[in-house]
Order: sequence, then C-alpha cells, then structure tokens
Amino acid sequence: MQIGIPRALSYYNFYPFWYGFFSNLGIEIILSDPTTKQTMSTGSSFVVPETCLPIKVYVGHIINLLDKGIDKIFVPSIQSIAPKIYNCSKIRGLPDLIRNVIKRNFTIIEATLDKSEKNQGLYEFLAQAVKPFGITDMEKIKQASKNGWKVYNNFHVMTRSGIPYKKALKYAIENKVIITDTSKSYPINVAVIAHGYNLYDERVSMKIFDKLEKLDVKVYTADALTIEQMKEGLNLMHSKLYWANEYEITGAAAHYISNRQIDGIITINAFGCGPDSLMLERISRFAAKSKKPILHLSVDEQTGEAGFVTRIEAFIDMLYRKKRSNIINKIKVNRKDKYTDITCRDLI
Ligand code: SF4
Repeated sequence: MQIGIPRALSYYNFYPFWYGFFSNLGIEIILSDPTTKQTMSTGSSFVVPETCLPIKVYVGHIINLLDKGIDKIFVPSIQSIAPKIYNCSKIRGLPDLIRNVIKRNFTIIEATLDKSEKNQGLYEFLAQAVKPFGITDMEKIKQASKNGWKVYNNFHVMTRSGIPYKKALKYAIENKVIITDTSKSYPINVAVIAHGYNLYDERVSMKIFDKLEKLDVKVYTADALTIEQMKEGLNLMHSKLYWANEYEITGAAAHYISNRQIDGIITINAFGCGPDSLMLERISRFAAKSKKPILHLSVDEQTGEAGFVTRIEAFIDMLYRKKRSNIINKIKVNRKDKYTDITCRDLI
C-alpha cells in the first residue's frame, strides 16, 4: 500500500503526524522531490497566473508524484481546525482545484477536516484518508492516530528546544528525541515569520536560514513557541483568531515583537495572499507602535535571489548599526565623564 504526499503546503506542518499515522497502518509514504525551479514552472503552467506561489508549487509536486508512477495521492481539504477558525479558500478547496487543473488518471484521497461542522472531526477525517486502502477498523485508526501524535509531539519538543526544523524532522521520523545545546549567543536575533511552506521550502525561502547564519544572526520561528505563547501574542495585539494559521503568523509575530531580545522581524509571504495581507497589516502597525524594525519579503516564481539577499543584508546591517548606537548611547549616559573611544566592533 502506497500513498503519495506532495512536499508542499500542509506537509510542512503535519508531516510528522502523517508519517506516524500512515506507517502505523502499514501504508508506505512516497514523497515528491524537494522543490526546484522546474517544480515551480510546471505547477505555474497548470493554473491561472494570479494563483499564489504555494499553490503553484503544490500542483508541481502532484505532477512530480504522478511522474513517479504514484496513483493514490493525499490531497486533504483542511477547512477549519476549530469552530469558526478557517483556512483560506484555496486550501479548503484543494481537492477540487487539483481535480480541475490536472486531467490525469489517479485517485485523489480527499479527506475533509471541518471542525466547524458536525461529524467532520479528526477521526472521520482519518477514516476517509485510509478508506481507499480498505482500512475501516476504527480501533486501528485511533491507535494509528495516537502514533501520529507521538511523532508530531516529539518533533515539537525538539523544535521548541531550538533544534532546527530539518534535524527535528529527521530525528522524529527515526523515532528519536535528541536535544542538543542550542544556547550559543549571536550578536543579532531575528524572528522570521511565515507559513511553514514559505519558510521551510528551501527553494521558496531561498535558504534564508543559511543566509542569516552567515550574517551571524540567530533565527527564531513560530515552531520554537508553544500555543500558549502564541495565544498570548494574539492577546497583546488585541487580535482575534480567524484564520487557521493565525497563531504561526500573528501570534508568533506579536510574541517576538514584544520580546526585547529580538532585534528585528522578517516576514515572508506569497505575493497575492489574501489572509497574509490582512495579518501583515496588523503586524506592521504593532511593530511600528513597539518600535521594532520589520522587513516584509514577498515571493513569487519570478523573485530573484540577488534582490532577496540584498534586502536581507541591508536590513541586518541596519540592525547592527541600531544595536551599536543603542550601546554607545547607554555608555555615554552611564559614564558621562569617562567616555572612551571604544569602537563599534568592540561592542558587538
Ligand atoms: S494562505 Fe495565502 S499563500 Fe497560503 S494557500 Fe492561501 S492564499 Fe496561498
């Protein structure tokens, strides 16, 4: 039994769960290959140009799985994750979108999760996901779900302790929990706020983690936070939960904006994303009020790496200068009479 899972959209949030769940039922997962330029251009050729980049990438991954000969592909419709908390219309209508744009012969496993409706909770969703494999025993499904949560929770224990996403995912899949020392301090701390699919897809985010590491910047993400911390963030902004991914965007951003250790915020969003444009507007206002520098990066399939890097470098350079002048001002205030000509480089 094999199921194809596109390495896109919900993969970046829920793959540890899918892995624990499907493998417990003896279903082998075949993943599409990591995103390339070809994935993007293939996906783009199937949809209208106005479609956001993550959906184009998703379509490209489905084609990749079909080209590998996979004939059952998991395309969930995650409508709402809690009563009246919704995903965007593209994620909600994903199976219909795929059926309409890809006219090839394959089975779309289109389980629906809609916690705003009766009888469309997690177990119903999981039962739909494995029905095409002839698995209907609810006890087995519940047991597999437990295993899914185990892998998922192990993954989050590691990300919350500061283990990078890729490593945490690898360990969780190997059924390991490895916590290493991540307390190394850096001169600049930045929070990068984005949906998992814009952040951890290295082609979409253009390896932003590596670029920031080279600039001696420590990166924080929503995955390092607990739900309670993100809820607190929403409260600080007096913002209500409406979008399904509001925690990882608004909640995480507000948390880091209010954290004095964080020097600046970088957001990455897909050009033309409706929910993000609303959330980012509120985040920008809160950042301005809190005097926290913020850089918005918008991506589509035309985004060039050179421009992306230049903007990041300029932003980080500004953070270094801001930090130096803050330190110098403090020294001037504290040691008015003995102020020495200590250099900026000495300070950071
Ligand atoms: S939330 Fe935005 S980026 Fe994500 S699929 Fe919906 S429109 Fe696209």
